[in-house]
Amino acid sequence: MADIDNRPELPPSLQQIASCVSGYDPNALPVAQAQEFIARLVPKVRAVEMLALRSALGRVLARDVVSGFDVPAHDNSAMDGYALRGSELAADADTVLQVAGSGFAGQVDLATAAAGQCVRIMTGAVMPAGLDTVVPQEFVKVDGDRVTIPAGVVRTGDNRRLKGEDLARGEAALVAGRVLRPADLGMLASLGQAEVPVFRRLRVAFFSTGDELRSIGEPLPPGCVYDSNRYTLWGMLARLGVDLIDLGVVRDEPAALEATFRAAARDADAVITSGGVSVGEADHTKMVMAKLGDVLFWRIAMRPGRPMAIGRISSDKNADGHSAILFGLPGNPVAVMVTFYALVRDALLAMSGAATAPMPLLRAASVAPMRKKPGRTEYQRGIVTRAPDGAGWEVRITGAQGSGILRSMSEANGLVVLHHAQGNVAAGELVDVLPFDALT
Ligand code: AMP
Ligand code: MG
Repeated sequence: MADIDNRPELPPSLQQIASCVSGYDPNALPVAQAQEFIARLVPKVRAVEMLALRSALGRVLARDVVSGFDVPAHDNSAMDGYALRGSELAADADTVLQVAGSGFAGQVDLATAAAGQCVRIMTGAVMPAGLDTVVPQEFVKVDGDRVTIPAGVVRTGDNRRLKGEDLARGEAALVAGRVLRPADLGMLASLGQAEVPVFRRLRVAFFSTGDELRSIGEPLPPGCVYDSNRYTLWGMLARLGVDLIDLGVVRDEPAALEATFRAAARDADAVITSGGVSVGEADHTKMVMAKLGDVLFWRIAMRPGRPMAIGRISSDKNADGHSAILFGLPGNPVAVMVTFYALVRDALLAMSGAATAPMPLLRAASVAPMRKKPGRTEYQRGIVTRAPDGAGWEVRITGAQGSGILRSMSEANGLVVLHHAQGNVAAGELVDVLPFDALT
């Protein structure tokens, strides 16, 4: 895979990529093939910056982090109680031990215990030499310096945390490509790391095309609609934590389109447009895209969201300059969101340097039958709820499913994914659901 920031070798041409994708057909491209093509196309950010730990939340780790020491550094107690030798516990009678001293978290001069003795110990305190077991204080009877432990309440090794059990010295605590989450920040803190190397943020430019579009705040003449795609796109991109370059609404004029595409290609790693890519579109978007780069116009076997442009565009096609990945999405408001989740989101994560895993799908019982033609992937907007018996999930479709009906998406909390080869779904049948609202 090529690098965005430092390109040693020429990236493969779109034709070369297409030849690697088995069953590639630009006029009826299955979603899986489109995903594979895109995965092969997109380069990765390489530039690395050091960030203070808290600023790194949600960012992509750029190097493996190896633990320089054992965490915890010593065996220690997991409970407030009494540390003892497990070998001194009587099998089926009370064990009585004498308290020889006490140990608190952070203490270094440890109490010692001879045979027949134990040590009062608090959670996190280092285990005194020779003691291997902690009996929680609530299980024992204390009488002066005597502790009585009933039979069977504790076994050898219980309630002892082992040195290095969280992280062993030399072990990779976190691997490059990790999107840092709260637990990861805690792990890094436990290693004493004040700063972490992360990839620079991906820069994503986006704009809407179409003469009928108006920006909010403008009057709405007859025949026009407000541009909503820039807001849904902004929301989905903002959740991914990329740097956003909003280039507004661009009129269907070749000069305006060209200037905007050039600016986008110059400043961004990825450019996302909506509208103007349908077959038979009268506008100039496709013409300008093709002029500024190496761009394919696909018809994807999916619903909604059939047309899509994909490729590379540059601010100056002839110079060996910077190029950006183009995702030309269809204009319909639902199609924009569905194609984003199905084809763009993972690609942007990969470009950001993240090690991507397939998006988690939920299995839910469809409350009603669904009609589905094999030979394309359909994404129905669904509402997933807990099944009435409390076991598993069920899903029902939100009202009218037209690809212009954004309300269907707004009401939904998941996309029912009816796979390429799948046919009609019977009531009660389990289907895959992509819970997109649970995604970052
Ligand atoms: P297109 O893909 O350009 O043919 O657009 C398909 C449909 O989506 C048309 O009804 C457009 O008016 C509508 N549309 C395109 N872009 C937007 C947008 N940014 N916001 C809202 N609707 C749009
Ligand atoms: Mg249009």
